[in-house]
Order: sequence, then C-alpha cells, then structure tokens
Amino acid sequence: MTTLADPVPGGRPGEVERAVGLAAELAGRGVHGVVLSYVDTAGVGRVKTIPAGKLAGAAAWGVGMSPVFDTFLANDAIVSTDVLGSPDGDLRLYPDLDQLTVLSAQPGWAWAPVDRITQDGERHPGCSRTFLRRLTAEAAREHGLDFRAGVEIEWTLAVPPGPDGDFVPVATGPAYGAVRQVELSDYAAELLAACAAQGLDVDQFHPEYAAGQFELAMAPLDPVAAADRSVLARQTIRAVARRHGLAVSFAPAVRAEGVGNGGHLHLSAWRAGVNLHTGGDRRHGLTAEAESFTAGVLARLPALTAVTAPSPASYLRLRPSQWAGVFTAWGLETREAGLRLIRGTAGLRGQAANLEVKPVDLAANPYLALGCAIAAGLDGIAAGATLPEETTGDPARLDPAEAKARGVRRLPVSLAEAVAEFRGDTVLRAALGPVLADAVIAVREGESAAVAGLDDERVAAAYRWKY
Ligand code: GLU
Ligand code: MG
Repeated sequence: MTTLADPVPGGRPGEVERAVGLAAELAGRGVHGVVLSYVDTAGVGRVKTIPAGKLAGAAAWGVGMSPVFDTFLANDAIVSTDVLGSPDGDLRLYPDLDQLTVLSAQPGWAWAPVDRITQDGERHPGCSRTFLRRLTAEAAREHGLDFRAGVEIEWTLAVPPGPDGDFVPVATGPAYGAVRQVELSDYAAELLAACAAQGLDVDQFHPEYAAGQFELAMAPLDPVAAADRSVLARQTIRAVARRHGLAVSFAPAVRAEGVGNGGHLHLSAWRAGVNLHTGGDRRHGLTAEAESFTAGVLARLPALTAVTAPSPASYLRLRPSQWAGVFTAWGLETREAGLRLIRGTAGLRGQAANLEVKPVDLAANPYLALGCAIAAGLDGIAAGATLPEETTGDPARLDPAEAKARGVRRLPVSLAEAVAEFRGDTVLRAALGPVLADAVIAVREGESAAVAGLDDERVAAAYRWKY
C-alpha cells in the first residue's frame, strides 16, 4: 500500500535514515543516478535526476523544480492559468522511497515517482500524484472504501524514426500472432525479465491487433501504486526497446487510420477487504454500492474524456468498432461499451471482478485519470445512482431511437467537445480543485490550438513520439 501521508520538510520520521541506507544499497548495486519522475497535465512524463548519493538530501528537503511544467503542452510550449504558467516560483520534488526501483534496462540508474510540495511545506495544488493520494485517503477515512486499480499498456514498436518522424512498425505478423511473438522473441523475453527484476507484477503480455502493437497487463494495486507502476512499466518498455535498437510509441494513434493504443483502466471498490463488484444482489452480482459506483462513472464519461483522452490524437483512436469504447454504455464483458463489467471466472470472482473504463489512452496522466474516475464513482455512491439498461454487442449498431431510450451517446469526437463537457462538470472539477481543473482546461485548449488546421495524418504525426 502506498503511504498516503504528505512529504514533510526535513523528512517524515525515519525517512532520512532510510534514504541513507538505500543510497548505500544503490551504491553497492552500481547505481549512479536516481530518476525523479512525474507526469505533467498534458500527460508527458518528465524527469529530474540526482546522483544516487544525494538521495537522503532529496528525502529531507526535496529537489527544486519550477511549477511551470504544470502548463506545458506536449510540444513544450507553455500556456497559463490564473495561478500557473508563470516563470516565477519553485517547488520541491520528494521521491517516494517505497517505490524506489533499480532500473534493470538502464544500468546505473534507479527510479522513483515524486510528490511536489511548496517551499513552505504545503501540498502543491497542481500535483497530480498528491491529488490521487488525497482522494484515496479521503475515501478510506470518510467512507471506509479503498480501491484496486490497473492501467493496461498498449504500445507500438517501430524502427527508430528519421528526421520526419515517420512510423515503420517492426513486426507485421497477424494480431495476437505467433509469428510476431517469434519475431520479437529476444525483446519480449528481456522485457519480461526486466519487469520481474523490478517487481513489476505482469499478468500478461501479448501481440495486439495493429502492426507492431503489443500489450502488457499488470496485477492490481492501490490506485497510486498502479499509476506509479504504469509509468515505470512505460520507462522499462522504452528502455528495453532502445537496447534492441527499436523505438516505442504509446501515442493514442500512431497513424490517422486504424486501431490505436489504449490505456484502459481497471477499477474495483472494496470495503474491509471485500470486493464490492461481486457477491451482491444487483445485476451480474454487483452490490448496490458497486452499481452506484459504476453508474457514477457512466454518468460522467463524456466529461471524464477530457482527462482520460487528453490529446488531439486521442480522438483519432476514439472511433466506433475499434474496441476503444466510445459510447456511454455498459455491459458484461462487452468491448465496445465505454464501461465493460468484468465478473471474472467462477472461483476467482472475489479477487477478479472489476470495472474496465475503455475510453482511456496513455496520453492521459494516470494519476488524474484514476483520480477522476474514482471521484465520479464516489459521486455515484453518494447519490445512490443506478445503472440504465445494459448494452451488449456494438452500440454503433443500435437503432438511434433505441440508443436514445437507453441514454447511449457517442462520447466527444474532439478534444474541444470533451473540454466543453469537462467545463460543465462540477463534480470532476471540485474533486480536482480549481488549480488542477483550470490547468486541465488550459492545457487541453492549448493542445487543440496547437493542431488547428492540421489534417488527421499530421495530428497523428505531431504526437507520435511524445508519449
Ligand atoms: N487497442 C484498443 C484500444 O485502443 C483496445 C484493444 C483491447 O481491447 O485490448 O483501446
Ligand atoms: Mg488490448
């Protein structure tokens, strides 16, 4: 479980001594530097690094970084809000020592995610990891609820791009194909070894649908750890690929047409160690609370899209009949509804039953995406929300009158539409707080403006190598 307490200037009790011990261990393992990792509002992973010997200092006093990165766009242009985006000010990045990991595919390096606090020791209201920590701590304290989460990771493996950033997939065998597993055998084995060495609990790895596309799924964790490990997994997937002379794209759409890279979220709500998504008297064994949680996410799916599909390229992926879940619908094990109910295999349901949120990609900041999905679900629980009729099969084939009667709507078809939904969503904005909510709006508007007038192929190219 993630430690939910905030960092403290000078270090939480015992933290500095622990960092001293860890630094000695890192030195013994040939580690020279520690990557301090966070994800910005645009969904771009950004880092600072410190020499491994400075870990205790970072645990005590943090490492400096400008808050301006909260309003960076994927192309490194800077937008602003009332409080963010100015060249002034500084924050302290505090590594989470629980997550400190020696990087197997980057010899000499270790990695840790950070929380960001102000120079006065206050929470930074723009810190997405702090947001998710706070939200999960509140849910536990006020409602006795905790969550398990996972982020699926899809990526495409390519020949390193030339100066024009072109995309040439490295594997061409069939979807889920044995051919592809053999073609990438050494890469895949090294990736699994690196994950195991780093304590990444991989459940599955397989060749996906599109040319050069692969997927990795990890065992569920508490939401903050799940977000952290999804970032670490991406760092690892990329690093192993580089060692094999390959390039990786996690972009929602590497090309304008075809199946994209998803980053589906899996979520389950638990009370006192019991999974609420099974063993209940509602449809498919949901308890009343899990039904309300699911209904809460469903009701906010259009606004949530601004957080879970944050790039103009996200809307190249969010097309019907490509398993990206582009309708406000839910169904048992359906891959075209926005929400797929997973009941799990008989005998394993207590562990496995969960909710899959599909209109999510890996341009999304995982802390914001998980936090907003949980906030939507908690709102559903508070309201005692119930689910509409179930939709199985492809909602794209529903007769329009039938779709309307069931409340089945197409999700936003552009980032601008998603932002309009998000602006009107007081629940998500309140959960994020004004600073983060305004940053989301400003960054999304900046991304939309950055690609104004570009055709779909150029939009895909603009984001292909950013995530
Ligand atoms: N690639 C699909 C997407 O963009 C998902 C395929 C799957 O269900 O695993 O969401
Ligand atoms: Mg997949």
